[in-house]
Amino acid sequence: LERLRGRLSKSRSVFGQSLLGLLGAGDLDEDSWQDVEDTLLVADLGAATTTEIVDKLRTEITSRGVRTSEEARAMLHDVLTEALATDADRAVRALPHTVDGQKQPAVVLVAGVNGTGKTTTTGKLARVLVAQGSKVVLGAADTFRAAAADQLQTWSERVGAETVRGKEGGDPAAVAFDAVKRGMESGVDAVLIDTAGRLHTKSGLMDELGKVKRVVEKQAKVDEVLLVLDATTGQNGLAQARVFREVVDVTGIVLTKLDGTAKGGIVFQVQRELGVPVKLVGLGEGPDDLAPFEPEAFVSALLG
Ligand code: GDP
Repeated sequence: LERLRGRLSKSRSVFGQSLLGLLGAGDLDEDSWQDVEDTLLVADLGAATTTEIVDKLRTEITSRGVRTSEEARAMLHDVLTEALATDADRAVRALPHTVDGQKQPAVVLVAGVNGTGKTTTTGKLARVLVAQGSKVVLGAADTFRAAAADQLQTWSERVGAETVRGKEGGDPAAVAFDAVKRGMESGVDAVLIDTAGRLHTKSGLMDELGKVKRVVEKQAKVDEVLLVLDATTGQNGLAQARVFREVVDVTGIVLTKLDGTAKGGIVFQVQRELGVPVKLVGLGEGPDDLAPFEPEAFVSALLG
């Protein structure tokens, strides 16, 4: 929690200081409520989520009779935690299964627009799985970005995984197919595929990502489609997510770069607007900076 607090320090100054300062000040007049609303909007909660949360805060304050700053903190904690849909299943499905008596690796597609942190997330996730004792194959299916395969290779050497890569500019689906094939032959536990993240046109993305998934499914079940979103991109990130969701069945969101932003409120908006659980959060560029998303801990860290 200490570490999470540290990484979220920018957002913490908004929630744990500005917001709590406003709510802990006793009777709130309309101007103060306007300030609460503005604070939430600036933190990127979005209009709909902000209205919902402000309404809940007003109701709670009236019914509970919040007096002290400790009471304000407890109330804010409850309202924010509840807004994060605590009952969602956030486990990343990365364990192998048995099909017709044969072990089959879990297949995880990692999707997202270039620059969001897709390759880094794939590497960090491999590290987590290897640390848990899993054998992992990485598929460098982002064949369009010149450095992506090298970057993934570096990660796999670092964490002790194997990388399957194709020719630069080659067919992403062919690389994904080969990676799954390799994973099945060598009996690994999970195959993580770093997919291409071009979003020039929706149909281009359909072709690429949709095809990757279809081709992989010729051999194995796709257990998880993680969509990586950059927390600093706000509405843009949400718009991207909607496009991806139309193309493939996104099963989890990874929200990256939460360390560099005061706009951590995007987590609430993503959760509410997309209806897909946030499963992981990126808290820095280092190998250990990927954490499971736990609403309770997240809110505690935000409030200081
Ligand atoms: P891709 O194009 O989506 O594969 O993006 P990359 O994985 O290459 O990441 C783009 C940049 O974002 C790199 O400089 C990463 O180190 C950085 N990055 C990725 N995740 C995080 C994060 O959680 N926090 C911070 N601060 N930087 C990150």
